[in-house]
Amino acid sequence: MNTPSQEVIERLQLQLRGEVILPDDPGYDEARTIWNAMIDKRPAVIARCSGVADVMRSVEIAKEQNLLLSVRSGGHNIAGNALCDGGLAIDLSGMKSVHIDPHARRAYIEPGATLGDFDHEAQAFGLATSLGINSTTGVAGLTLGGGFGWLTRKYGMTVDNLVSVEIVTADGQRLWANAEQNADLFWAVCGGGGNFGIVTLFDFKLHPVGPDVMSGLVVYPFEQAKSVLNHYREYVKSIPDDLSVWAVLRKAPPLPFLPQEVHGTEVVIFAFMHAGDIEEGKRLVEPLRHFGKPVGEHIGVNPFTAWQQAFDPLLTLGARNYWKSHNFAELSDGAIDTVIEYVGKLPSPQCEIFIALLGGEANRVAADATAYAHRDVNFVLNVHGRWDEADQDEACVSWSRDFFDAATPYAMGGVYVNFMTEEETDRIGSAYGPNYDRLAEVKQKYDPDNLFHLNQNIKPGG
Ligand SMILES: Cc1cc2nc3c(=O)[nH]c(=O)nc-3n(C[C@H](O)[C@H](O)[C@H](O)COP(=O)(O)OP(=O)(O)OC[C@H]3O[C@@H](n4cnc5c(N)ncnc54)[C@H](O)[C@@H]3O)c2cc1C
Repeated sequence: MNTPSQEVIERLQLQLRGEVILPDDPGYDEARTIWNAMIDKRPAVIARCSGVADVMRSVEIAKEQNLLLSVRSGGHNIAGNALCDGGLAIDLSGMKSVHIDPHARRAYIEPGATLGDFDHEAQAFGLATSLGINSTTGVAGLTLGGGFGWLTRKYGMTVDNLVSVEIVTADGQRLWANAEQNADLFWAVCGGGGNFGIVTLFDFKLHPVGPDVMSGLVVYPFEQAKSVLNHYREYVKSIPDDLSVWAVLRKAPPLPFLPQEVHGTEVVIFAFMHAGDIEEGKRLVEPLRHFGKPVGEHIGVNPFTAWQQAFDPLLTLGARNYWKSHNFAELSDGAIDTVIEYVGKLPSPQCEIFIALLGGEANRVAADATAYAHRDVNFVLNVHGRWDEADQDEACVSWSRDFFDAATPYAMGGVYVNFMTEEETDRIGSAYGPNYDRLAEVKQKYDPDNLFHLNQNIKPGG
């Protein structure tokens, strides 16, 4: 692959409406900063696109010049493929518009918008769609991998709510893709990641949510972990789709409702949101408070937008992060014991293991209906290694990997593509599952030369 020549850089500068950022420019380091501080890549040029025309020009030039090409939207992906070394980084972070049509209950979202940008606009009309749990995450990357959060059990995966996309393919052309037009391409972008082109507009259906929701946290001491997790796995079998409850095991952050002596000790946190009637939500979460003897709880009626930001302080940009993830059909005794063993030896105060609850509407869709295939998964478990200093890399990465290996016998084998690290190319088959061959055919049709390969890559033709 070629490095952009001076002539290519000048063409970009002439032809783009947006900013073209070079290594000597004052904004360069800020522009190459993404969420995971372990990623330190240096693109030869960053094209901060202002609109579809800029994206089309940039793709054309990358293709013609055989440039290494990366695509960045929210910049949250753990693997750091939003950037490249020595190539052209297409940066969509400035394309942030979110247009809501409250009558049609539709949202038209540009790829640089974050979940917070979307919630701000949609909640002005009491509307939402199924997205993730951290407001600084990009709508684009999250959607393209499948997407799940508090509303998934009620309204399905993020891709189940996607109606249509505008996409620039490897030949620099702008296409619309939906169930009628370029249906093969639309199927592929609904879980096939950034393999097929650059999405420049997402069209979602919306649902009435909030503006207030019943949500909160119930916190148990680590000594009760085995018993409360046993209760949890039974409890979630019968809760309705309106309710989602996730479990997080970590050292307690200094939450104001926790006694000071609990801060910094290992705890089990059940975090929940009920997307329906408030009183019904209160009734439904009551058993959660009696799994054992909690050390604290914060249960209440919160604005949906506030709950969507509740975990932001624990997930700020700038820390070093290493993740490993497994899909589970059920939480077996072995899985629970392994979680407890590794939470007993957390290598940093920010490391955690979380268990996201899926199921509900997400599992009522056929595995081949969208590229996202994991319709039999009930829990996504993520080991989230997180720390501040480079000299802790070895300890935190090893802890994450060791936990992952120890938990493997109890897992399903599949993995959520959006939680994969850069080095996990051996898990690509597990990520796309039974849909891989069909995805490879679509890749062959729309990107035969694999221009878009900085991602969890699907090889053209298989
Ligand atoms: C703190 C945190 C919380 C998270 N919470 C959740 C959650 O609750 N639910 C969930 O499902 N996931 C969650 N994730 C994972 C998240 O879905 C992925 O990190 C996702 O890739 C982020 O998208 P982005 O646009 O911010 O990332 P980026 O790093 O900008 O993009 C990721 C990749 O997607 C591709 N891409 C990006 N934009 C485009 C585009 N417009 N067109 C084509 N390809 C594109 C590129 O290959 C790029 O490398 C979380 C991640 C973090 C770091």
